[in-house]
Amino acid sequence: MAAGRTVSAKSLTEFDRGWLGIAERLSKNLENLILEENKRKKFHSEWSKISLTRDAGRGVGGGKLQRDALCTRGRHDKAPFSNRNLRWHPLIIADNTPDWAIEVQGIEVRADKIYFIIDNKDYSAEEVYKLESGQPLSSYLGETLMRTNKPYCAPLTLWRNHVDTLREWNDAEWTKNSCAISAMEFSPAEYCIEIFALLAIAVLYNFYGVDYSIAVETVLKVFSANDYNPTCQFYDALKSIDDILRCPLCKAKLNEPPAGITPRVRPPAFQRPWQPSKRAEGEPESIQLFHIEPLTETEIRHTPKSTRYGHRWCNVAMADRSLEETLDFMEAVVRVHRGSVASISNKNSSVQT
Ligand SMILES: [Zn+2]
Repeated sequence: MAAGRTVSAKSLTEFDRGWLGIAERLSKNLENLILEENKRKKFHSEWSKISLTRDAGRGVGGGKLQRDALCTRGRHDKAPFSNRNLRWHPLIIADNTPDWAIEVQGIEVRADKIYFIIDNKDYSAEEVYKLESGQPLSSYLGETLMRTNKPYCAPLTLWRNHVDTLREWNDAEWTKNSCAISAMEFSPAEYCIEIFALLAIAVLYNFYGVDYSIAVETVLKVFSANDYNPTCQFYDALKSIDDILRCPLCKAKLNEPPAGITPRVRPPAFQRPWQPSKRAEGEPESIQLFHIEPLTETEIRHTPKSTRYGHRWCNVAMADRSLEETLDFMEAVVRVHRGSVASISNKNSSVQT
């Protein structure tokens, strides 16, 4: 499996730099809304720090906002997936090429390198971050402001000829070629920067006591100072601000326990003392990225409409289902249990009498 760092992790195009620059300015201006210095430093190091890389830096280089809003998740596969990359990276892999991408002409594997053929030219893993299709995404998304172009896609059919070779590849060979992202995680830079701002507002409000209307105003000022006009989805999300500030499933505030249930105190479990965990991300009440509509390869779902922060417990309970499906599931579970509990207690009471 590709165990190392994403290929070209430190390489950025002018386009990438422009968006990461806006993220940096958002971070700086939002940090300044926290008056207490220690809290401001904590927000910076945990949430708003920006690493000028494709993968948010090694380990904990960038803050959680960059990793969640702007980057794909970290992964180690026997596949050319990046171990974190920018979500607007121009090369995706999918079962079928989606409408919003352009299929590469072919794939070649020579020695220990994969090459993607586009316009009769070969592009190695190190070169793909520079790809530029020149075809805007705007028509697909129905948004007129999109500057991001359609990515290129290497679908399953093009990999079939190379199965015998790739089956033999070791970790080092995969790491050298970890240069693409999954179609599921792709999102235009415009949506990513807006999600970055929305998630930041939720964190500032819930954990740092910042008035959300002042945070919204700050975000809009930074966008305007950078000549950025937000999308319709961003303004729609602001209209229902309460949905952004609370967990999408249990509707509790993010600084409150899931569904308001006091978490039990768990006895300590073994932690490697030579590699202490920097964040308590495994706790039920810790905060995780939520996609209200589960990610799919056919549609772009990392959008301001569908992306929120929520409790880990709630996110795990959703198990990659939509909010509606989860509610139906929970309702059915409760009905079964309440029903059986009622029938048992009825039996007991009939025995006693
Ligand atoms: Zn919740």
